Order: sequence, then C-alpha cells, then structure tokens
Amino acid sequence: MSDRKKVYVTRELPEDAMKLLKSKFDVEVWQEEMPPPKSLLKEKVREVNGLICLLTERIDREVINAAGPQFRGISQVAVGFDNIDVEAATEKGIYVTNTPGVLTETTADYAFALLMAVARRIAEADKYVKSGKWKVPWGLMMLLGQDVWGKTIGIIGMGRIGSAVARRAKGMNMKILYYDVVRNEKAEKELGAEYVDLETLLKESDFVTIHVPLLPSTRHLINEERLKLMKKTACLINTSRGPVVDEKALYKALKEGWIWAAGLDVWEKEPTDPDNPLLKLGNVTASPHIASGSIATRTRMAVMAVENMTAILEGKVPPNLVNKEVLKVRPSSS
Ligand code: NAD
Repeated sequence: MSDRKKVYVTRELPEDAMKLLKSKFDVEVWQEEMPPPKSLLKEKVREVNGLICLLTERIDREVINAAGPQFRGISQVAVGFDNIDVEAATEKGIYVTNTPGVLTETTADYAFALLMAVARRIAEADKYVKSGKWKVPWGLMMLLGQDVWGKTIGIIGMGRIGSAVARRAKGMNMKILYYDVVRNEKAEKELGAEYVDLETLLKESDFVTIHVPLLPSTRHLINEERLKLMKKTACLINTSRGPVVDEKALYKALKEGWIWAAGLDVWEKEPTDPDNPLLKLGNVTASPHIASGSIATRTRMAVMAVENMTAILEGKVPPNLVNKEVLKVRPSSS
C-alpha cells in the first residue's frame, strides 16, 4: 500500500496544477460539474489528509467535525473563503488557505470592464443589433449612456482588488473616493484616493464598486437606505460577493430609478434563479461569477492552491494561511 498522503479535489483543476499535485500525493477528483454533496465531503474528510475545494462547497461545522485525526488542511481555490467555517476548522487544528494576489489584476480588469459596459450599455447594444432592432442608420438619442472619463468612482473596500481598480480609474482621470474599515495610505499617496465615510461615498460617486469580503459586517451593506443615498445617474458594480447587496432593495432602486444601472457578477444565490426579477431589467448587466476567470489566472490560482496543500501536508506553515491561530492548536513541524 502507498504511504503517500491522500488529497481529495472537488473539481478537475487546470493541467499544470493537477500534474504538480499528482507528483506528490495520491489524488482523487470529483468528476462532475456540479459540486459534490455534503455526505460525500464528510466521507472524504474522514479518510484523506487534505481537501482542495472551490467556493461552491459549503464546508461547515458538520463537514469539519466529520474529519478524521489524519486530516490537516483545506486549500480553497479562491481568495474569498466565506463558504468555510474557519472558526470550526481552527478549533480542530485544521489549516485553511486561500489564493490571494494572483487574481487581483484579472478581477480588477473585469470589474472595470463591467463598469464600462454598464456605463455605455454594451450588453444592451449587443442584443439590440443581434435581435434586428437596429432600423435607424444613426440615432442621435439611441442607447445613450454615461461618461466614465473624469467622473467620480467610489470604491468600497480598498484592499488588493479595490486598489487595482483605483489604478485603472486613475488612468481614466477619475476622482477616487474610498471607504474601508482601515485607511489605505498607499492608495491615498500614490493614487490620490480620498478616504470618506460610506454615506459621503454613496452620495458623491457616479460609479460605486464593491470589493469587500463577505462577513457578518458586510452582509447587505448595500441596502434600501443606502441605495437611496446614491445619485439617480449612478451605476453600482458588484464583483465581490452577492450577499453584500440586498437584491430586493436593488431591484426597487433600479425599477424606480433611484439609481441608473447595475453590473452584477455575483448574486445572493448562485446560480441565480432564472426568474430573478433583476434579470428582466434592461439596466442590469449580468454575469455568472467570472471576474477572476482568465485562462492564465485560473491556472495560477490552482497551482497556488496545490502549493498551499503541499506545505500543509509537509508540516510547514503554508504561504497563504487564513487562520494563523491554528498554529497554537496544531503547530507546524518546521
Ligand atoms: P482584501 O482583503 O485585499 O481587501 C478587502 C478589503 O475590504 C480590505 O481592505 C478590508 O479592510 C475591507 N473591509 C473588510 N470589511 C469591511 C467593511 N465592513 N467595510 C468596509 N471595508 C471592509 O481582499 P481582495 O483580494 O481585494 O478581495 C476582495 C473580495 O473580492 C474577496 O473577499 C472575494 O470575496 C471577492 N472576489 C471576487 C471575485 C469574483 O470572481 N467575482 C474574484 C476575486 C475576489
């Protein structure tokens, strides 16, 4: 019997990552496109040494409590880890890692692309032409949008991705406002970003873009009351996590014209229901949680997740340990 450690992977990873993983461990992969059921996750953590998973897997206390004593770590292929009960993992001495940094620029590219698409109604224009609605050769008033150049952007969460979006906004000659629970002096100094409270940001921005993690403190951060503060001509862009925005309130805001348009990559429930009323609105540009989805970045994320798992199973402190307190429960051996 092999004495190699065992890793369970909840989806096929890009080839480079898979090769690396298989060179070190005995690997079993869930072959379906849909996430594996909870019962299977519980069964696997009972027998393997590590789990590599995606944000679609709910790794709650029940799954974590099913882990056997040989189980050392959960390596998530994403920067956000709100699907994992980190506290439960820490209590059990289970290391949790994520993939920060490698997806920052790709996600910021997408957030800015969505901002531009919403402002200039690109998704609507595409449908307009393809559905044969284009009859007038050139319409002075056809599909008019909002300017981006020189406008004010409000960034909620000036971390890695928020700062990368700010760099793009600077290139568009935008005034940059931001709100965060911590000041980002680097962004203030290098990009001229101005720290304001959330209320001021919402009142003064032409574009509001969200880059906070999903936490109890950020759930429904954008609610009815706050949407009412925004300009009637403003656009809201969300590439963070769906539950940061109250979708029911957003629907009202868009339908009743409190704000002008929204670009949503993330949803309260994913996949979002095809009957979600937001999808019926022309002023909503929708995408299926793809902001980090470039070919190169998805490979980098998967390789990073494998490197994290390798460190965990070699008894080292992994480079992207989320729950540093776990070292008190189960110290590394190096
Ligand atoms: P980060 O930790 O570098 O930045 C997050 C920022 O939010 C920090 O500066 C933090 O201080 C701030 N923050 C935390 N709580 C706050 C609060 N209550 N109010 C205001 N600010 C608060 O993280 P990052 O790498 O920039 O990623 C941000 C998030 O983007 C991730 O957690 C993830 O959920 C999401 N994300 C989504 C995609 C996608 O495909 N749509 C891709 C990558 C990341």
